[in-house]
Amino acid sequence: MIIAIDGPSGAGKSTLGRMLARKLNLLYIDTGAMYRAAALAVIESGVSTTDEDAVADVVARARINLAGDPDSLQVLLDGRNVSNKIRTEEVSQTSSVISTIPAVRRALVARQREMGKRGSVVLEGRDIGTVVFPEADVKFFLTARPEDRAQRRYEEDRLRESNLTFDETLDDINTRDARDSTRADSPLRKADDAIVIDSTELSIEEVFAKMLSAIRERQGRDA
Ligand code: C5P
Repeated sequence: MIIAIDGPSGAGKSTLGRMLARKLNLLYIDTGAMYRAAALAVIESGVSTTDEDAVADVVARARINLAGDPDSLQVLLDGRNVSNKIRTEEVSQTSSVISTIPAVRRALVARQREMGKRGSVVLEGRDIGTVVFPEADVKFFLTARPEDRAQRRYEEDRLRESNLTFDETLDDINTRDARDSTRADSPLRKADDAIVIDSTELSIEEVFAKMLSAIRERQGRDA
C-alpha cells in the first residue's frame, strides 16, 4: 500500500503522515527532509546555488538516508545525523531553491521510489501523487489558510530559533509556496485523483479521522 500526502508548507503533512504510519504500521518517508539534507550538503560544500551542475553533482554524491521510527525519524547525511541542522531558515530557503533543479529532483525521486518499494509506505512532500508515485493507492492534498499554516510552523520553529518572528515565518512559507507552485519541473499541484482536505477549521484529530476513513474505504474496495 502506498499513501501519498502532498500540500504546501505547514499544512500538517508531517504530523498526519506520522500518525498514519503509527496507526497502520507503515514506513514513513519525509521527502522534504531529503531535499533539506541535500540543501545542507550544498551549503557545506560551498558551491553556489546558481551553479546548477555543481549543485547536482553535490546532491548526486550525497548519501541521504532516513532511519528510525516515524516519531524519532533521523535524517542522515553521509552517515551523520543532521535531523536538527536541516531545520534552520537557511536550509529551508536553500532546499526550496535547489529543488527547482531537474537533476536534483531526478536523483531524489529515484531514491524515494527505491525506498517506497521496501513495503507499505506513507510518503509526504509536494509531488508524491503527481510524479513520485502516480499509482499510489490513496492520495491526499492537505491545505489550510496561509496564516494558519504559518502559525503552526512558527510554534514549532521558535522552539529552535527563539528570535524568529511570526512575520518571518509567514514570509518564508509564502516565498517557498510560490516557488514550489511555479517551478517548471514537478510543481506543487493537486493530483486529479487526490482527496483534498482543508484543515483551516479542523483539528488534527478530525483530519486524521477523515484520512483514516478514506484509506479504510479504499482497503474495503480492494478486499
Ligand atoms: O516539506 P518541507 O518544508 O520540509 O520541504 C522543504 C522544501 O523541499 C520545500 O519547500 C520544497 O521546495 C522542497 N520539496 C520538494 N518536493 C518534495 C518535498 C519537498 O520540492 N517532494
